[in-house]
Amino acid sequence: MHTVMTLGTLADNYTYLVESKNEAVVIDPGEASPVLRALGVSGARLLAAVCTHGHFDHTGGNEELAHRTGCKVLLPEASTGDTALAIGPFAFTVLRTPGHSADSVCLYLPATDGQPGDVFTGDTLFCGGCGRLFTRSPEAMWASLQKLAALPQQTRVFCGHDYMLENYEFAVTLEPANQAVRTRLEEARALAADGSVTVPSTIAAERETNPFLRSGEPAMKRVVGMEGAGDVEVFAEIRRRKDRF
Ligand SMILES: [Zn+2]
Repeated sequence: MHTVMTLGTLADNYTYLVESKNEAVVIDPGEASPVLRALGVSGARLLAAVCTHGHFDHTGGNEELAHRTGCKVLLPEASTGDTALAIGPFAFTVLRTPGHSADSVCLYLPATDGQPGDVFTGDTLFCGGCGRLFTRSPEAMWASLQKLAALPQQTRVFCGHDYMLENYEFAVTLEPANQAVRTRLEEARALAADGSVTVPSTIAAERETNPFLRSGEPAMKRVVGMEGAGDVEVFAEIRRRKDRF
């Protein structure tokens, strides 16, 4: 069993402290001080800082954390296949998910007894959205999102930024009649009003309401006026619309 603590870092980043048996791994420490404070409270020993990609808002705290705690720093390496990453009590699978950046990965902890799986998606998949395509490859991002969509449906999704409200404000412009999307927008508004964190989501919720994951659905192709178009074309068009939103 492990716990996941969500830490707000920088303007709107999420950093995750995963703890088990008094040992911890931090994912995407955009800055060090909130992580050091949380470790001070829990008393856990930090084994490693692991990053989903090399952008500064996901890595900015690495150096100070390594200096202050002696933890390892693990950045994604250029590799084509998914790989196992064992750190102390944590058995991650590193899923290669290029698209936002060429080096983007997602960190997956499969389900264990009584606990659903967790996936830390960085800037690949957000609650109701996906990352910008700095690789300019909608094909790569679509394949990466399909890989995430194929995870067990109850898998919890911990993403790299708090963009849920603006994502569902956009999603509802595409599918104003989709009740599941409207419900998610209301949830996002309530969470924002409370100042609550917007994670975790689940793979099931994202498949049902995230417009980017819905790019292959006939209903989505119809509302964007692209009936008969390929999934990647529809995905690329929705991404273009979101970039201008
Ligand atoms: Zn990024």
